[in-house]
Amino acid sequence: MERTDTRPPFAASGGIIPPELRKIKTPCYVLDEAALIKNAELMGNIAKRTGCKMLLAQKAFSNYDCYLLLEPYLTGTEASGLYEARLGAQEMPGKEVHVFCAGYREDEFEELLSFADHIVFNSPSQLLRFGKRVKEAGKSAGLRINPECSTQEGHAIYDPCAPGSRMGTTRAQWETAVRKHPELIGLLDGIHIHTLCEQDSSDLETTLTAVKTKFGDLISQMKWLNLGGGHHITRPGYDIARLEKCIRAAKEEWKVDVYLEPGEAWALNAGFFLTTVLDVLQNGDTRLAILDGSAACHMPDVLEMPYRPPLLGADEPGENAVTIRLGGPTCLSGDIIGDYSFSEPLKYGDILMFGDMAIYTTCKNNTFNGMPLPDIWLRHGDKTMERLTDFGYEDFKGRLGRCRK
Ligand SMILES: *Cc1c(COP(=O)(O)O)cnc(C)c1O
Repeated sequence: MERTDTRPPFAASGGIIPPELRKIKTPCYVLDEAALIKNAELMGNIAKRTGCKMLLAQKAFSNYDCYLLLEPYLTGTEASGLYEARLGAQEMPGKEVHVFCAGYREDEFEELLSFADHIVFNSPSQLLRFGKRVKEAGKSAGLRINPECSTQEGHAIYDPCAPGSRMGTTRAQWETAVRKHPELIGLLDGIHIHTLCEQDSSDLETTLTAVKTKFGDLISQMKWLNLGGGHHITRPGYDIARLEKCIRAAKEEWKVDVYLEPGEAWALNAGFFLTTVLDVLQNGDTRLAILDGSAACHMPDVLEMPYRPPLLGADEPGENAVTIRLGGPTCLSGDIIGDYSFSEPLKYGDILMFGDMAIYTTCKNNTFNGMPLPDIWLRHGDKTMERLTDFGYEDFKGRLGRCRK
């Protein structure tokens, strides 16, 4: 399952960098207001039609200057821990804050409770340790279940249903725990599942069948069911009608509030990464270009997922006259973004524009090799540009020690 398969052909848009993007310093990310709003409207309409509640999973996209754009369409934010919970509470005031973390810490829990409305536990032991405090604070407690239903191949690191997984609670684990601690059931308000990654609603349907068989009786006793993330809702061709059918069926079957917490779908294809060619090389038959942007530092999912991001004006290797391997300036031999074909050779100073760079980028980059963090810009609907933040030497140094001037 290559991630490129699911993305629209960016090359088809022509290969000319829009004028408002040509003058800004690279490397940089550009978030696209119009695309963000378009995604959000689509998500909001699903919520409206089905009565489900949509959350933004901040780990995929947390450029909070843009929260204002998404706010009208969502119920709240989802966090992976204390800092994201705090960010959601601060930057979307009045909206719900949901948290899932595989392990909560005693020394953070009170503060976390002050921000969170829903806290989802990964295991009965964590529920036992903290559940009572959630209830006493008037908040809602949930358990992430493992329906033991793998619907994805190829990406084992994204499959929480793989044998021996540490994510979620299987029915057998739950039964063992309840036999010892019957009070567990009284601590629960909701059930949480998260088993998908960039998947269509047919996989959700398959998952819900397994969920019903394994946990249906438990869910009937709950107030809410959270269907997690990984729903590739804003991808062209995603089967929205089937998703809505799943949501309605769950509400009907179990009489629960249904939440969805996608991350990626909110900001899919809603940002760019601009980078400049620093050098061109030829090694045997291989043409290469060194860019001022790095896969390892600035688009880490290219190596980790892995995937090949779309590049404006370029196609698959061999499709055009010149195929060039694009790599970053770091010491890592494998800091390769991919092979792309162009109608003409690249040259020093050329600007390249990668697409779909709003998700799992700005919130996941790093300063390995002392690489500078790219500035982050917002392109408004009227094509005016606003710089949201910029970075320098102190951002690199500050992560490594006390910032002595
Ligand atoms: C990663 C994650 C999400 C968001 O996933 P996307 O693939 O970005 O939609 C939501 N909930 C949980 C618990 C997650 O771990």
